[in-house]
Amino acid sequence: MENHYDVIIIGTGAGGGTLAYHLAPSGKRILLLERGGYLPREKDNWDSRAVFVESKYRAKETWYDKDGKPFYPGIQYYVGGNTKVYGAALLRFRERDFGEVRHHGGISPAWPLSYQDFDPYYTKAEHLYHVHGLRGVDPTEGPASAPYRHPPVSHEPRIQELFDDFRRLGHHPFPLPLGILLDEAEGKALPSSACVRCAAFDGFPCLVNGKADAQVICVNPALEHSNVELLTSACVERLETDASGHVVTNVVVTRKGSVEEYSADIVVVACGAVNSAALLLRSANEKHPAGLANSSDVIGRHYMRHNCSAFMAISKDPNPTMFQKTLALNDFYFGADDWEYPLGEIQMLGKSDGEMLKGEAPGWAVWKPEFALDFLAEHSIDFWLQSEDLPHPDNRVTITPDGRIVLSIQETNLEGHKRLTAKLKEMLTEIGCHDQLLHRSLYLGKDIPIGGTAHQSGTVRFGRDPKTSALDVNCKAHDLDNLYVVDASFFVSIAAVNPSLTIMANALRVGDHLLERLGSAKNRT
Ligand SMILES: Cc1cc2nc3c(=O)[nH]c(=O)nc-3n(C[C@H](O)[C@H](O)[C@H](O)COP(=O)(O)OP(=O)(O)OC[C@H]3O[C@@H](n4cnc5c(N)ncnc54)[C@H](O)[C@@H]3O)c2cc1C
Ligand code: SF4
Repeated sequence: MENHYDVIIIGTGAGGGTLAYHLAPSGKRILLLERGGYLPREKDNWDSRAVFVESKYRAKETWYDKDGKPFYPGIQYYVGGNTKVYGAALLRFRERDFGEVRHHGGISPAWPLSYQDFDPYYTKAEHLYHVHGLRGVDPTEGPASAPYRHPPVSHEPRIQELFDDFRRLGHHPFPLPLGILLDEAEGKALPSSACVRCAAFDGFPCLVNGKADAQVICVNPALEHSNVELLTSACVERLETDASGHVVTNVVVTRKGSVEEYSADIVVVACGAVNSAALLLRSANEKHPAGLANSSDVIGRHYMRHNCSAFMAISKDPNPTMFQKTLALNDFYFGADDWEYPLGEIQMLGKSDGEMLKGEAPGWAVWKPEFALDFLAEHSIDFWLQSEDLPHPDNRVTITPDGRIVLSIQETNLEGHKRLTAKLKEMLTEIGCHDQLLHRSLYLGKDIPIGGTAHQSGTVRFGRDPKTSALDVNCKAHDLDNLYVVDASFFVSIAAVNPSLTIMANALRVGDHLLERLGSAKNRT
């Protein structure tokens, strides 16, 4: 019985980490299995060459495209998952995103639950992850059951100028909601603040634990409860069932070169959308020949990741901003004056520096030899553009007989994204801010398009119909009694906002269901 738990959670990122935090006070015996270790705290955390050029913290992992060509996914395996390096832009889906939305490239399907079902959990997730923001500025935001607990992160002067210029053009820029442990006054971090407002926010790990990531906010506090255990370097290879196929009986793990087995009344998979699908597919058995919980044949399908791009606008004036990721704009989220379909969201990126550009831009040096890359970086204002891709059944994760991960992708719904880029160019030209808009490729591991797996989702979708979904509305597998999935896999569509707040909110929602099921609802915090 030593290896038997009430709950096993596989993966400690946005989904698994948040669920662990929510279940920890129940007193139930909980085991977290994480294939990575703790991300080392060291000076390289804030070194752009180490992070962006040498990809020091990226998993040494090879996946394959549909033609068998290898690629290196932009993925991190650590306690805290990909939130260790995320930009912590924590936004709610818009209310309409939960319904069916018509796009130029097709239909974004409706979710089985509504915005109102998620609202209380969005609020809890915003409070838990210290989201700094301001309601009532972005006209596309839905009603919220409570205000943010923390004021928005202040703009530095160049970004405030951009904000004012956009307003002058009649747009509605708003402070980007950020999960950050920042207390500031007059644009400076207070002595008591964990975050020091440095330039290494987006895509870097935080050396001083100032970012609200899943390790700092959820896993560490969960482990303060004696009923919660964590095994690192514990890679789950497969799940085994009883003879009926209805109950997961064994979680098979490789750890430090040996094979170990654990069991639990409830098994929760939260490995990230690609690895969760791969784990379920690898766990095929006689009762589940197409993969565990896959009678619907949806597992691995409907992979989404956003149509997104990073841009540098080269301004005539230098941009000395340190903490740049403070502004966003949703005025083209659902359409534009000249286009009836959704375009997407514009937000700021972390600030580029010369090292990053040297890593990704040898071509630029040839094209614009008169510009030193350091000069370009000093004059750049950096943007992230994000549009919705659509859940196509053939965009999918599969595994080869020897267990390799294959990701098959065809682009969907690109026209809106092209138009969003054109809108940004128009706006910047109108305010006289730039004479060049350069495409960035290194950020998020997007050096080859298929490697941009940062926003992966949708491969184990939830729904009410077991024929078209793998999970029910509580994220329990339709086909099994004790198997749940609580990472980005459950998404039915991806909207055009960053995914993590929805993953965290859902983990809290499923956590409430699990506490009821475990008979511990009264104990919850
Ligand atoms: C550079 C970057 C910037 C980003 N910026 C933002 C942002 O600003 N806002 C936002 O909302 N999102 C952002 N994201 C995306 C965000 O990080 C992810 O959406 C989120 O972390 C996904 O949560 P998850 O629980 O699905 O998976 P993850 O957080 O990836 O967690 C999965 C965990 O499972 C573990 N695991 C995988 N397989 C196994 C196995 N077989 N056995 C045991 N453990 C396993 C992994 O090591 C990992 O810890 C960013 C991502 C990146 C890479
Ligand atoms: S800006 Fe704050 S949270 Fe981000 S890396 Fe710097 S100190 Fe950490």
